[in-house]
Amino acid sequence: MTYEAVMGLEIHAELKTRTKMFCRCRNDPDERHPNINICPVCMGHPGTLPVANGDAIEKVIQVGLALGGAIPEFSQFDRKNYFYPDLPKGYQISQYKHPFVEGGYLDIFYSDEAGGLSTKRIQITRIHLEEDTGRIIHDPKSDAALIDFNRAGVPLMELVTEPDFRFPAEVKAFGEELQRIVRYVGASNADMEKGEMRVEVNISLRPKGAEEFGTKVEVKNINSFKFAADAAEYEFRRQSDALERGEKIAQETRGWKESEQKTFSQRSKEEAHDYRYFPEPDLPPFVITTEWVEKLRAGIPELPAAKRLRFTEQYGLSREAAALLTSDKALADYYEAVITELERHDRDTPEKPMKNPQLVAAGLMTGDFLRLLRETAASPSDILITPENFGELVMYLAEDKISNLTAKSVMEEMFRLGEDPSDIIDRLGLWQTSDASDIEDMARHIIKENPDVVSRYRAGNAASVQFLVGQIMRESRGKANPKIAREMLERLLQ
Ligand code: ADP
Ligand code: MG
Ligand code: ZN
Repeated sequence: MTYEAVMGLEIHAELKTRTKMFCRCRNDPDERHPNINICPVCMGHPGTLPVANGDAIEKVIQVGLALGGAIPEFSQFDRKNYFYPDLPKGYQISQYKHPFVEGGYLDIFYSDEAGGLSTKRIQITRIHLEEDTGRIIHDPKSDAALIDFNRAGVPLMELVTEPDFRFPAEVKAFGEELQRIVRYVGASNADMEKGEMRVEVNISLRPKGAEEFGTKVEVKNINSFKFAADAAEYEFRRQSDALERGEKIAQETRGWKESEQKTFSQRSKEEAHDYRYFPEPDLPPFVITTEWVEKLRAGIPELPAAKRLRFTEQYGLSREAAALLTSDKALADYYEAVITELERHDRDTPEKPMKNPQLVAAGLMTGDFLRLLRETAASPSDILITPENFGELVMYLAEDKISNLTAKSVMEEMFRLGEDPSDIIDRLGLWQTSDASDIEDMARHIIKENPDVVSRYRAGNAASVQFLVGQIMRESRGKANPKIAREMLERLLQ
């Protein structure tokens, strides 16, 4: 039998607010000292009263608007009652019947199995606001469970999708695009390694062509979207094997063990929880006016999908380069600041327009610049290279005054010291030489040193000249103009 997977996602994200959801404790995910951002309200002491954080509500509404969701006029919080040691109140303030956001969708793009680009619209069911729980840490030394309540009461948005996913690649594409959107909007840092964003995959199988859904399994606590796709892949195999053997799928919650690339059963979901939801009596319902919604809509920046499209159209970038440069809003802003510098240069010296400065800038930025940012975990907004200096480096490269190899080492120096590129190139003596006699000397020398390569070239292997060009570049420490070096070699080898 051929089976089809049916999947829906539940994604939580901790919101980036100054204070917690219902009290004035700091919301600081980087706080290392346990149990200091706590107070009687988030500890659930009797007689305390919650006050809702307006900033958190606005952030959820903005995420909803970015996803084309509807903002109902009437919203309210509900109590979800259950006991767990990380939940000091004995209930969680959440939303049940009246969430802040209803509906919406996200268009995803991903490489399909045939290597083409697939696109699909995933419908969103709802987005609501709730509070996070504390954190339980199992301490092997004392063989005890320790509890840190700093996270208890931190604003948490939960997004639920319709069961629209069929392939693991769709799950990954959705998660990554959503992560970019919440970051663009400024709602969450959404760092999955820090638990700021968490994903649950619900997955069932049905015979291909069938209408009815099968029994679903929920895979919880996955901390990357790649792992979510891997877990979906694994569950598809596990469930289809079981169905082939004539077994029934148990409705259960499973976890993902990354080291073994397997899901494992955590608890059965047969006996459905009854949370006894009721409207939170300590908080009034909310009336969200149209004016408020429109004000929030106006504050949403250009979103990743629109920016990607604009970068390909306006700057002639490839889809891949546009995707990389817009993966982070600060990086996209930096790129555009560099472009502004380059345009200024072209305006000032119209007799010397550059060749493809947008592409040269994008090439430098998606290569060594991005690598340096990642290695140092820096953001483009707090580095030493100014867009002006970056633009100057692009200019030298676009005008063939330096080679790619030189640009790379100059960029590293700029990154380290924030120095002017021309000063660095002067200091290291790396201006590109197009001086034919210099290059001819080097070419003769390289030809003498590499008789094997030369005979291969003469035997008809034209590509081996590239190796010799590389040797000249190395000998000249990147200073030789590679185009002239190649022409010189080809002439000498005739
Ligand atoms: P629960 O109450 O168990 O959390 P919900 O109906 O709220 O279940 O759905 C949770 C998630 O599971 C949603 O993303 C939904 O799209 C998805 N889902 C619901 N039914 C199925 C199914 N049969 N197979 C796969 N996913 C499903
Ligand atoms: Mg669920
Ligand atoms: Zn508190």
